[in-house]
Amino acid sequence: MKVIPIFFPNAGCKHRCVFCNEWMATMKTIPVSIEDEVVNACRIYHADEDSEIGLYGGTFTAMENWREILKTVHDVALRVGVKGIRISTRPDEIKDVDFLVDNGVMHVEIGAQSMVERVLVASKRNHTAEDVVVAARRLKEAGIKVSIHLMTGLPNDSKRDDIYSAFEVAKLRPDSVRIHPTLVLKNTELERLFLSGDYVPQTLDDAVDVVSDMITIFKNDKIQIERIGMYQDSETIVNVVAGPYHPAFGEMALSAMYKKFIDSVGALGVCGPKNMRSQIIGRNRIKIPFEESEYVCAIVRNKRVYFDDWAELYVSRLGELIG
Ligand code: SF4
Repeated sequence: MKVIPIFFPNAGCKHRCVFCNEWMATMKTIPVSIEDEVVNACRIYHADEDSEIGLYGGTFTAMENWREILKTVHDVALRVGVKGIRISTRPDEIKDVDFLVDNGVMHVEIGAQSMVERVLVASKRNHTAEDVVVAARRLKEAGIKVSIHLMTGLPNDSKRDDIYSAFEVAKLRPDSVRIHPTLVLKNTELERLFLSGDYVPQTLDDAVDVVSDMITIFKNDKIQIERIGMYQDSETIVNVVAGPYHPAFGEMALSAMYKKFIDSVGALGVCGPKNMRSQIIGRNRIKIPFEESEYVCAIVRNKRVYFDDWAELYVSRLGELIG
């Protein structure tokens, strides 16, 4: 499935979250003609019946004319023949769910970022964790797919808080999640806090460590992980002032998860799909035999320990740790 992105940087946002500057993150501007923008994007991305048009950036459903925009995009979507539309928005700005359904929205990405009130306040999110719970429930009841975004290393955040947030989000049974560590972008309040020493970003190792635990939680609950880490290209990377950025962050987090598995069971060999070899042992530079198999498992003396069984145990221990 392909997503054809259309950006509305910071449009509809009634205030600014401390970490956010979507112009710096995307280097895009709000489209002048929505119809032209969507038609062009569909052409460039070779839209087909398996594609979704993604209306990203800002708080889509808080834009003054969001209904009008959505109707225009829906008309184009029907003409071009794409599968549907997805939007991203804040949990406290999910208003007319019926209108979303009637106008082709099949998927809503909710920016939760954290489920810890203290962290939401410090990040100036201006919504509560309960807003996320209510938004996810309303959308799911309407048959709309839900993706939830989480961030790690926010102001006043901790590893325990990030893991707690992952557990709380998993309870909502979203269709998918996206996780990325907080990066300090130019021209944000976080940049000011960073420069004054009042905010210390996560190290890359800490970010990889906590995200690897969060993805284990979601994998254990069979929740799809749509994206790990933040995409930056050569234009936007110059706007990252500090923080745990790595172009292969997602691969690093997945490899760290498999390393925890291999180390904790004392594997003498490991099995898994061929295309995951590098993720499981290659990137980790683990020198044990690799055998091709459908499922990931470790060979421990004369028995096999399946990754899924280990993950269940690991996640239950994480749950006990955070209480
Ligand atoms: S994080 Fe979302 S809600 Fe906050 S300012 Fe950025 S786009 Fe707006």
